[in-house]
Amino acid sequence: MSFADLGLSDELLQVVEAAGYTEPTPIQAQAVPSVLMMRDLIGIAQTGTGKTAAFVLPMIDILGHGRRRALMPRSLILEPTRELAAQVAENFEKYGKNHDLKMALLIGGVQMGDQVKALSEGVDVLIATPGRLMDLFERGKILLTGCELLVIDEADRMLDMGFIPDIESICSKLPTQRQTLLFSATMPPPIEKLAAKFLSNPKKIEVARAATTNVNIAQHKIAVPSRKKRDVLRHLLKTDNVSTAIIFCNRKTTVRDLNKSLQRHGFASSEIHGDMDQPARLAELQRFKDGVVNILVASDVAARGLDVKGVSHVFNFDTPWHPDDYVHRIGRTGRGGASGRAFTLYSPEDAEAIENVEKLTKSKIPVFTIDGSDEPEMGEEAPARRGRSASPKAEERKPAAKRGTTRKDEAPRGDDVPRKADTPRQREEAPRRPSRHDEPRQAERRGDRRRDRHADPEPADGGWNGPVPQFLHISALS
Ligand code: ADP
Ligand code: MG
Repeated sequence: MSFADLGLSDELLQVVEAAGYTEPTPIQAQAVPSVLMMRDLIGIAQTGTGKTAAFVLPMIDILGHGRRRALMPRSLILEPTRELAAQVAENFEKYGKNHDLKMALLIGGVQMGDQVKALSEGVDVLIATPGRLMDLFERGKILLTGCELLVIDEADRMLDMGFIPDIESICSKLPTQRQTLLFSATMPPPIEKLAAKFLSNPKKIEVARAATTNVNIAQHKIAVPSRKKRDVLRHLLKTDNVSTAIIFCNRKTTVRDLNKSLQRHGFASSEIHGDMDQPARLAELQRFKDGVVNILVASDVAARGLDVKGVSHVFNFDTPWHPDDYVHRIGRTGRGGASGRAFTLYSPEDAEAIENVEKLTKSKIPVFTIDGSDEPEMGEEAPARRGRSASPKAEERKPAAKRGTTRKDEAPRGDDVPRKADTPRQREEAPRRPSRHDEPRQAERRGDRRRDRHADPEPADGGWNGPVPQFLHISALS
């Protein structure tokens, strides 16, 4: 199967070739012809499988015909985070350069003036996060009645972030005669419901379960007490041929502390988490992409779906609470056919989480053994095995559940969970494993439409006055 078989225009095929893509990924091969035939579509494929181009490419050809109208975008792409929205915009810029298309990017943390101006002049593509779009709609700056193509991207992430009511409301503002595409890594029941309500006779394409991890990724787990995690991590960073790495932590405070510690030890690292504002996150991501730093310490919300090429290693400094996140995290490596390595450190506190990961992926993650000679100082509790000859039985043993080492300032909350004042009582409580859908439910109870402020804070307009990164500019694509 080649791109030429998918029905795309010659102009587009040239750009795809220039991008260095030789053949479509499975989701692209199946989705592109259906999108070009104007069918509704549900595309389910794990992170890193090329879903963006699966809708961006055919959209460019579809939008190549027709005319722009003031205030009425012709198509709308909804993304859960600003970073993902910016990435889709970059894709439009790259693949749309042979077409006369205009786009606007509507995301928090960037001043709205230019974006509103572009909209008032007419755009072919509007890429937006739901919260910001609702804001603008309520201010009467935009009409969605001319929007004949809707993409709901990363639908499961939208669910996690409590965006489903916003999406329902947005859908109801679009013409009923439209084409709707929904992409997701998983299809939890609320997303099935959303699809049933807003898609008509969709073609369903499922190329790989989210629970299926990529065969190009060599996975390992290492049992280690919490207080030794940093030693083991540094050891691996020095000895495992790490060229670029993303290190995931469950809590924002851990992200910050770990990054500081790595920098103190001379590593070129930076951090990205949900408490940082948009420009700061993009700046850090850019430094990582540019190779200024080769280690990025990240939280799940900040990193989900980010397209960072050629990451040699993923480290789970903590085992993720949600097993789906394991698949998403390690999906940062082993992309586009390259091989990658993923290490998961698990302490007694992570024991249940790692069991859940192995249940989801239906496989045991192989135990990694650290060789004697250059082994870090592990202390007497060191559960990482000494020497490769240890019996498999001993290697599989669980770490002794001994100490509750959750630090006071690391009250168990992921980026998804809104900050609440820590009462002394809460601090003493054992780590609570947040349920995947806790936050949306809490938010619904509060009747708070702008849940994203908690989940992924979008600073108010004008909160940032620095330069806008090039790819965030409203741009003519031709
Ligand atoms: P997803 O949305 O499924 O998580 P992306 O659309 O972000 O995945 O794509 C993941 C990576 O794969 C990107 O770096 C993208 O440039 C690359 N990619 C996409 N399509 C192809 C292709 N046909 N051949 C090679 N690489 C591709
Ligand atoms: Mg994507």
